[in-house]
Amino acid sequence: MTVAAEAPTTPTPPTAPTAPVTVRVAIEAPQHSGLIGPLDYLSTAPLLPGQLLRVPLGRREVLGIVWHGAAGLDELPSKKPVGAVFDSLPPLAPNWLALLDFAAAYYQRSVGELALAVLPPELRRIDPLQLSRRLARLAKLLARPMPADPAPALPALAAAQADAVQAITLAMAEAAPVPMLLQGVTGSGKTEVYLRAAAAALDAGKQALVLVPEINLTPQLEARFAERFPQRRMVAMHSGLTPAQRLASWLQAALGQADIVLGTRLSVFAPMTRLGLIVVDEEHDPSYKQQEGARYSARDLAVYRGRLERVPVVLGSATPSLESWLRVVQGRYQRLRLDQRVGDGALPRVRLFDMGVLPRPAAGELPPVLAPLVLQSLRERLGRGEQSLVFLNRRGYAPVLHCGACGWKSGCPNCSAWRVFHKRERTLRCHHCALVERVPRACPDCGNLDIAALGQGTERLEEQLAGLLPGARIGRLDADTARGQGELQSRLAQVHAGDVDVLVGTQMVTKGHDFRRVTLVVAVNPDSALFAADFRAPERLFALLMQAAGRAGRDADAAARSEVWVQTWHPQHALYQALQRHDMDAFAASQLAERQGAGLPPYSHLALLRAEARDAALATDFLRAAAAAAADLPGAEAVMVYPPVPATLNKIAGMERVQMLIEASSRARLQALLAAWMPALHGLRRSHKGLARWAIDVDPLAI
Ligand code: ADP
Ligand code: ZN
Ligand code: ZN
Repeated sequence: MTVAAEAPTTPTPPTAPTAPVTVRVAIEAPQHSGLIGPLDYLSTAPLLPGQLLRVPLGRREVLGIVWHGAAGLDELPSKKPVGAVFDSLPPLAPNWLALLDFAAAYYQRSVGELALAVLPPELRRIDPLQLSRRLARLAKLLARPMPADPAPALPALAAAQADAVQAITLAMAEAAPVPMLLQGVTGSGKTEVYLRAAAAALDAGKQALVLVPEINLTPQLEARFAERFPQRRMVAMHSGLTPAQRLASWLQAALGQADIVLGTRLSVFAPMTRLGLIVVDEEHDPSYKQQEGARYSARDLAVYRGRLERVPVVLGSATPSLESWLRVVQGRYQRLRLDQRVGDGALPRVRLFDMGVLPRPAAGELPPVLAPLVLQSLRERLGRGEQSLVFLNRRGYAPVLHCGACGWKSGCPNCSAWRVFHKRERTLRCHHCALVERVPRACPDCGNLDIAALGQGTERLEEQLAGLLPGARIGRLDADTARGQGELQSRLAQVHAGDVDVLVGTQMVTKGHDFRRVTLVVAVNPDSALFAADFRAPERLFALLMQAAGRAGRDADAAARSEVWVQTWHPQHALYQALQRHDMDAFAASQLAERQGAGLPPYSHLALLRAEARDAALATDFLRAAAAAAADLPGAEAVMVYPPVPATLNKIAGMERVQMLIEASSRARLQALLAAWMPALHGLRRSHKGLARWAIDVDPLAI
């Protein structure tokens, strides 16, 4: 983000007033209510910005945050007095308020909506007068003596690791540290760099904030931090916590008792008063973008927060986002590189299997699931007692059922999507709305009994592999087999324990796991992303395949015989050629050249205005009116508003989805236009009664 941030100064408590004063209070008000700013209330006691309190709203009482900035001047008699104040909590820090101000403005949400949404929901249910009791209980819990484990032995750093750690610790002493991109191949010891950098921050009496893209990666990283810092207090923040746990974590961070906060995207808003370091692991991961409500990017906000707090931000990845890459090229981020695997472990050999060389299947027959050479590689691993991963990014048994007699397909009546066949469950499931039905015995249209499953998902692949590899222990890891954290962790534990020979799965298998016995990774049918309408699809595929490849040969002894097989119809594609050489630089250069030629991000800045209605014409009309309103705004000539088009998935759960792309060459111009546009959009919303919802997505991931 390019907006310069000035760290606000710490406020001094106002002197006790004789008459009630007006205070601004941010409360939760969803965007569609049209309420933009904080509301004014009256208080007889002096209140500090950042204090939590309860205030009346209509006939209810809601949680609010005293906001900074001048309160409204006109003392309207209608102003109501504030309710109880959370006296036992320290006020949220000025930098926290500034972060929320920025995020709300940047993502075009009301500050109250965003600020209240990132607090633990449990706070809303608590009477401020009793909170002190909860805090006392928590304090007792915290007084528990920490285990007096001996300090763990540290591995000697490789030269590149030592350089990276030194650069980060030097940056800690700087007044305005430059964000750092830690680009390191899988298994190069990035996590060790995070640990050392965190140690430096903790030794200086500061806190470390560590972000991970997904909840299923938190336990691993938590374990490594816990092992390294047995004497320190670490709290987790992610959606897998109970409301009470979430509150406890938040309180410990807010009270400055937690030294390390580790969590998913929401934790970028963790209240921390002694922040010394921010780490964003797998910074390229799309999970950092919130896709509902305020559509913020935790990665981008982490960078902003680092600037605000004047602390180093370390963005780590084997396959950095092209946004971060370009900033390195422009000299705005400092790059730290780890080009070697730890202990000089070799990277696995990537082999492309050209599916075009296989003999054409006879009419009515399917091409083989696995090429003979790939199958042979799998059998070799089985023979040696090594593990293999087979990656197919599609769950279910088959993406669609089809009647050969009449042409019926298992479309979803509510969505513009196929219902996926789940064989074991005997269901047809729409992955976009909640519709689940039993699989019909015969074609619903013509009664034909012979309906066929077209294509292949992980469930089918598991079945096919069982047929091809008799006796092998085959496991599957996808959203269907790992529905909760418990199930996921137990499945991962099976793999680690060696109870699985071949693990089939979606991208879930590619993420960060330190599987020591895997020596073969097979990517089945990854080609579709090469020609997808979404311009980021190749970038994501490259990252996924590099991640998948990174699961092989993590044990140095096995690295030399580790391989990755990619089954493709396009082995000459630049993406696969770069993958084969583990060459992120070549891939980034080719993608950036394409993006620049097409005027796409990171060379331009985008926002999407989305509208949903039962009637597509109404949604389109809303967008057209919005475009007309935009054309009259100052600065409109610097921004391109494209005509409304149906979204890629143009119908979900009965709602027609239409969207409009807004593009500008400068972020500031885009921001200026969006801000000026908002009142008109709220007005149009009111005049389009049938509209179900609208939303603006700044820096959308997919268009
Ligand atoms: P990455 O995060 O880049 O994938 P990790 O930090 O997980 O890599 O390191 C891979 C493995 O190497 C881990 O088991 C880690 O404990 C080990 N490791 C990291 N740095 C060193 C080092 N300097 N000496 C020995 N082992 C190391
Ligand atoms: Zn039919
Ligand atoms: Zn559906």
